[in-house]
Amino acid sequence: MFFPVINLLSRLIPLWVAVACLKVCTPQADADPVVYVTMVSHFDRPWAMTDGDLVALKKLTRLHPKMRWTHLYNPVAYTQETPLREAMERFVKQTRDHHGAEIGTHLHMYRSLLTAAGVTFVDHPSVTAQQVKGSRDDSGYAVPITRYSRKEIGWLLEHTRKIYQERGLGQPKTFCAGFYATSLDLQNMIAAHGYTTSAAAFPTQTVYGAQYAPSWHALSGWNASVTYKSRPYRISQNSILPGHDAPFINAIDKQPLVEIPQTCKIDWMVSAEDMKLIFKEHLAIARQGTATAICLAIHETSSEANFDKFHQVLRYIDEHIHSGSQPQVKYITTAELRDRILELN
Ligand SMILES: [Zn+2]
Repeated sequence: MFFPVINLLSRLIPLWVAVACLKVCTPQADADPVVYVTMVSHFDRPWAMTDGDLVALKKLTRLHPKMRWTHLYNPVAYTQETPLREAMERFVKQTRDHHGAEIGTHLHMYRSLLTAAGVTFVDHPSVTAQQVKGSRDDSGYAVPITRYSRKEIGWLLEHTRKIYQERGLGQPKTFCAGFYATSLDLQNMIAAHGYTTSAAAFPTQTVYGAQYAPSWHALSGWNASVTYKSRPYRISQNSILPGHDAPFINAIDKQPLVEIPQTCKIDWMVSAEDMKLIFKEHLAIARQGTATAICLAIHETSSEANFDKFHQVLRYIDEHIHSGSQPQVKYITTAELRDRILELN
């Protein structure tokens, strides 16, 4: 009975009442709280992607037409031999042009990418070690971007921009570095290079899903203030973490850079059940009057292996949307979600 009564009431309340409410309600209260669902693809090792992985990503697109990809694409595909490069580039462009997808950026500190950008490669520390001291990764994959200087980060972002321009991939708006590592320096640098959105805030706890290695906790920049319940937030000039006030880091459009928390961690860390429970937790947050968002994340090289898991979770979300029940649920890209969050309060 509850939902029909709400529906009826919402039709009876005149628009001016809603407008008046918007003006007097606290910034936390939204007139029509929505649970936004973002879905990011991480391109970590593009050279290792298989035909089966590409088929899995295409199938998820076809079977869930309302879903909106945010591809965290990786320019390393253009700095070393990558057999499926043309096919994956076609895929990300095709979803952008026909399925409302966004093409953002994901950078791991591989030697080929760094060399191409004019940055000297280092192999330490590593975020996948038991301790920071003495940790290293010869491939650079697990070396956090934050161990490089602002100047070097600037060269990497500029090199990425050039590759994206040459390949017709557009100006990327959403940024996430390997293993979600970030810092105030990096957030300021991405804002200066045209990004508007960060998809990096990562839950450190194990309420849902597995956890990274101890060195990640020391190096990533995140702490227990980021949880599976965290909502998108403006990034303060004083901290990358949620719950900090203005002044905010502004993007080039003079509006704040927004962080989209990675509520559902990433494929291997979580089960379908974990993702559904997190979605339900956010439905509960919206029912209390606050717009919120979840983020699902899948790696390109394990999309075939994880297809069933994500198909199941997306079907569960699709069913909620098709049922028309409250709160409203909408698929959205991370950069579009940033604009929505800024409009809200
Ligand atoms: Zn990655």
